[in-house]
Amino acid sequence: MKHKLVFPGDQLSTSEELLPGDGTFEEDGIIRASRIGTYVINEKHRTAEVKPATSTPVILSKGDIVIGRVAMAKEKMIIVEVKHVAGKSRSISSDTDATIHVKEIAQGFIKEASSEYKAEDYIRAKVIQVKPSVQLETKDRGLGAIKALCSKCRHALVKKSHGLECENCGNKEYRRIADDYGALDLEKL
Ligand SMILES: [Zn+2]
Repeated sequence: MKHKLVFPGDQLSTSEELLPGDGTFEEDGIIRASRIGTYVINEKHRTAEVKPATSTPVILSKGDIVIGRVAMAKEKMIIVEVKHVAGKSRSISSDTDATIHVKEIAQGFIKEASSEYKAEDYIRAKVIQVKPSVQLETKDRGLGAIKALCSKCRHALVKKSHGLECENCGNKEYRRIADDYGALDLEKL
């Protein structure tokens, strides 16, 4: 099967098909990922597992495209835990905190960074500075939120023609999204 990058909360299988293994949990008969990684089926034990990316340290460089999780959304900046570096096929060893200044979010003027991204969103961003601190930007079309959760019920928001919508509770929300929002797989990293 195709190896697929999954995020915490993603549905992997059901408890009728497989048993919950490493990196997963079961809830109401559904097996979900409990961490970011690659979804694999352990045929021998009939378990669903999520393999974390290797712990080999990856050094960030200017120009790298990274995937991170928003830790905090403030008025003037977004704080991101960098999880993945494109092309390296692995996570970075320990969480690396990075920031996106409000003026680096989009080409046009953005008043409040926190209106564009929210805590727990997964975003794709480009590294524009490494030292003394890691700084990112999301101005290109391919950059921005790639997965976001409903702020009311925490289900994944789905991209519709009018924007993002929660299929569970009907809540509509705005994010600055990457053009492939919701479609990420490991081959694209
Ligand atoms: Zn919802």
